[in-house]
Amino acid sequence: MRLILLGPPGAGKGTQAQRLVQRHGIVQLSTGDMLRAAVAAQTPTGLIAKDIMANGGLVPDEVVVSIIADRIEQDDARNGFILDGFPRTVPQAEALDALLKKKKLKLDAVIELRVNESALLARVEKRVTEMLERGESVRADDTPEVLSKRLANYREQTEPLVHHYSDKRKLITIDGMMPIEEVTAEIERVLAAVTKADEAAQAAKRKVASKRAAKPARAAKPAKAAKSKVKAKAKTKAKAKRTVKKAAKKAVAKKTARKAVGKAAKKVSRGSKKATKASAKARSGTRRTAAKAAAGRGRKAAKKVAKRPSKAANRLTKRR
Ligand code: ADP
Repeated sequence: MRLILLGPPGAGKGTQAQRLVQRHGIVQLSTGDMLRAAVAAQTPTGLIAKDIMANGGLVPDEVVVSIIADRIEQDDARNGFILDGFPRTVPQAEALDALLKKKKLKLDAVIELRVNESALLARVEKRVTEMLERGESVRADDTPEVLSKRLANYREQTEPLVHHYSDKRKLITIDGMMPIEEVTAEIERVLAAVTKADEAAQAAKRKVASKRAAKPARAAKPAKAAKSKVKAKAKTKAKAKRTVKKAAKKAVAKKTARKAVGKAAKKVSRGSKKATKASAKARSGTRRTAAKAAAGRGRKAAKKVAKRPSKAANRLTKRR
């Protein structure tokens, strides 16, 4: 089981996380604890985090994300884990989503412990007194001033995660103002419901899968490569058809043009014959003027025809 505990400082995340560890045999991964250990050991991460934590600020996202990425890789987290204090910002949540997706791990639920802010200061004060009584060292950030800063950070940066996870249908909100035992019982009740719903969904999936497997296999569709080969063949065929049509049209046009040129040439020769005849007449001396005029007309006609071969001949020239 993989869970996230969400809630402001003093909401009771740590207490409930320990109970879940015992009941479900999973590990509690608290970024707060890990960072405090890093500060105590003075590791490079600890040196970055020390002052930020003491002032109630948030340690940079990349630092905590890399801590968690390493931690969930470890053997003891294989059975599942409870994230306590992480994610605390939307980018952290998105990084976690990506991390789980990459590892093909499913998040079961996000449990939000909702509490009245007015009760939180009293709770933290009580915690400080109890720690002092046990002779334990008190956290540097458990002072009223720093607590109000931590609360403001929660409201601004962490509360938007409520929407992030309710959009993903992972959010379970529990009244954190109830006595500890009742909060635990309520968490167990909802987790049992989540597990049951999950099992039902898995069973339904298996049923669909086995039904599908029982159906006779349909004729395989032609593979993509084969399909594209067929398409390419059809394209080549169509192109060849178009080329043949074009060539035929050109041949017809050429023939028509040749005919037209022939006709025009005939007209030209007829015209010049007329002219020759007329000039012969003129040479014979009779009706000289009329003969000259006829010859002139003949020559003109010949020129005209030669200049303007015919419409068909024109078309051919244009096409060329
Ligand atoms: P709280 O009781 O306020 O929830 P935690 O023990 O979870 O406190 O964390 C203590 C401090 O550690 C935080 O105030 C913050 O400075 C730092 N911290 C812990 N978890 C994160 C996180 N996920 N992102 C950034 N800072 C964190």
